[in-house]
Amino acid sequence: MTKPTRLIAWGLCASLAAAAPVAADAPEKGPEKGGVSQERLKADVEALVGFGTRHTLSSQADPKRGIGAARRWAEAQFRASSKACGHCLEVVTPETMVSGARIPEPVRLVDVVAIQRGTERPNEVVIVQGHIDSRVTDVMDATSDAPGANDDGSGTALVLEAARVLSQRKFPATIVYAVLSGEEQGLFGGKLLADYAKQQGWTVKAVLNNDIVGGSCGSDGYCDDTHVRVFSEGPRADASDKTRAAARRFGGENDSPGRNISRYVAALAGGVQDDLSVRQIWRADRMGRGGDQLPFLEQGYPAVRFTVAVEDYDHQHQDLRTQDGVKYGDTVDTMDFPYLAKVTRLNVAALAALAKSPMPPAPVADAAVKTWTDVTWKPVPGAVAYNVWRRATDAAEWEAKPVVAGTAKTSAKLDGLRGDDWILGVSAIAADGSESPVAAAVPGGAFEPLASQP
Ligand SMILES: [Zn+2]
Repeated sequence: MTKPTRLIAWGLCASLAAAAPVAADAPEKGPEKGGVSQERLKADVEALVGFGTRHTLSSQADPKRGIGAARRWAEAQFRASSKACGHCLEVVTPETMVSGARIPEPVRLVDVVAIQRGTERPNEVVIVQGHIDSRVTDVMDATSDAPGANDDGSGTALVLEAARVLSQRKFPATIVYAVLSGEEQGLFGGKLLADYAKQQGWTVKAVLNNDIVGGSCGSDGYCDDTHVRVFSEGPRADASDKTRAAARRFGGENDSPGRNISRYVAALAGGVQDDLSVRQIWRADRMGRGGDQLPFLEQGYPAVRFTVAVEDYDHQHQDLRTQDGVKYGDTVDTMDFPYLAKVTRLNVAALAALAKSPMPPAPVADAAVKTWTDVTWKPVPGAVAYNVWRRATDAAEWEAKPVVAGTAKTSAKLDGLRGDDWILGVSAIAADGSESPVAAAVPGGAFEPLASQP
């Protein structure tokens, strides 16, 4: 179980922890308040399945069947949400030609992306994404029905629903809602969006990749609808030899930005008042498998993957068939929509918290040969105060309360704290009390690509 520990301590969290509702200004609950709708999620997954196949090599021109029709439908959903919020979403469709081991002839690849610009720091970006393409047993089969209800109709529906709900509100930072293509053929859509983020010069605070988030039972009958897994990398994918050596020597293998987003989302889950906890999985993805968070990590952008607690291998990447009495295929009837609604509400709460709070600072700890520890950082735009956190080097989570709470200064001298025995970190707090994730004062702990660091 994950305790809603860290976030209780300061202003934000009166609203996110303990007994208080998600906050008066955060209508994530209940359709009557413009909250997440289980019915809309189901209707969206059914609409996606209705395109027959969404394989990357399927028709782009057919008005009813194939990836092109599905993509245009997703774009229309974003445009409808935008119309409902006074055109608050900018819809863009980055595209590229791709080929690879699973794409023998070059094919046009298009992501569908809605951008909700921040009111104060529009260059600061939080991304929520899922992939719209689907597959069956043979990854090259572009013509058979490939419903892809859970993989990843669920993540695509979550993204569309998050856009509907959150576009009714305004945030200091930008939220990007992304429907990606080409995942099953080699994570092409994630790469395309990560490249786009770089071209735009975005400061990426967090990427929430949602892939297979709408089921709760495995093929062996084991079920769990009260957990969602959040995968995060340990050592950073973008680490240079120099950073890797420093992280190995001084600690940093358990404090990538993605790992600290995982801790942040896990703490947040306790405040969403759903029967849903985060099971933090401390590896970049599932064993032998991948997802669209990986291309972001390779470019140094903080990213995590949300996935169901229990996967159903009979109902993903399978030809539709009945064999020895067992039904195979990724179909709507094997999904759990109350569960998908819970995961969507958690994503919405996390996106709102991240889009309201400042960037995490990039702290440095100095404790060499002295009886105290100095922690210093540069001021962060939008921050009015900072919390300084610690945890023992072998502890999983930051302590329940900060060692220094709500300081307006950009340094802290921790008397008597022997730094060798602790991991230190700092979070930034906005005027409304919204708190960022903690960034650890270790090599590679900062929320920015290592290539851009001095
Ligand atoms: Zn997938």
